[in-house]
Amino acid sequence: MHCNNRSLIGLLFGLLLVGTAQAKLNVFACEPEWAALVTELAGEQAEVFAATHAGQDPHHVQARPSLIARLRSADLAVCTGAELETGWMPMLQRRARNPRVLPGQPGYFAATGAVTLLEKPAALDRAEGDVHGEGNPHVQLDPRRMLEIAEALSARLQQIDAVNSTLYLRRWQDFAARWQVALARWQGVVAALRGKRVVVHHQEWVYLLDWLGVQRVGSLEPKPGIPPNMAHLAQLKQQSADLILLSPLNDKKPSDWLQSQMGIPAIVLPHTVGAVPGSDDLFSFFETIVKRITALGHA
Ligand SMILES: [Zn+2]
Repeated sequence: MHCNNRSLIGLLFGLLLVGTAQAKLNVFACEPEWAALVTELAGEQAEVFAATHAGQDPHHVQARPSLIARLRSADLAVCTGAELETGWMPMLQRRARNPRVLPGQPGYFAATGAVTLLEKPAALDRAEGDVHGEGNPHVQLDPRRMLEIAEALSARLQQIDAVNSTLYLRRWQDFAARWQVALARWQGVVAALRGKRVVVHHQEWVYLLDWLGVQRVGSLEPKPGIPPNMAHLAQLKQQSADLILLSPLNDKKPSDWLQSQMGIPAIVLPHTVGAVPGSDDLFSFFETIVKRITALGHA
């Protein structure tokens, strides 16, 4: 086969490019919060792709060919797990044909596997709505659990990219130190909320409420994933509550109505990194939550 110098140089150059690209860890993050966490823990060492953005509902995502292609070339997939991505991730994993990122492999990391889950149903009954059988998966909303997840994720990075383990270890120590300082400050601010009563839209706030020591007295959704209806709202109105929580993805009409009926504030909180302006990394994400929820009176 004839091979001229030009194509040979092209080939060598191509190989060189592939070589440098492989030096970086290719990470597929199912949700924006995990993309943000990988960026904290790996910095320049990782090429991070976020499969969903803050405007998407991670319960319902289309398994598009572009996502399959991204997963195919990934060294590590970082997801929530606990059935949150059950409608799309297994299909992506089947079609990507990348054995590295299959469940049970070091290249698949589920954040929910690193922490204790709340709301584990005693018996699974699909008639109860969009119930997650392994427990509530929305763990990104507790800054204490975030630290546990970060530690486990850093260990995983050190395992699958052992050559760079010192770098990951240093970045984890730096992150943990900064997070603990921020966490102590946030806890000081939110202490005033302890014992308050809250109505939520969807039950994604359970971990936040757990951290805040706030009681959930009801959900706008009659059952998880089932849209609010008038009869249910009228019942909720009878409750005594201090505030209503919702995410920017939720329909505002039900909370607007309840807010006017009960005379309490309805607060829109980011449910993930980037969901509202000024919440583009993990620190500003929790900073925004703390600021918005403690601004109660002026909401
Ligand atoms: Zn959910």
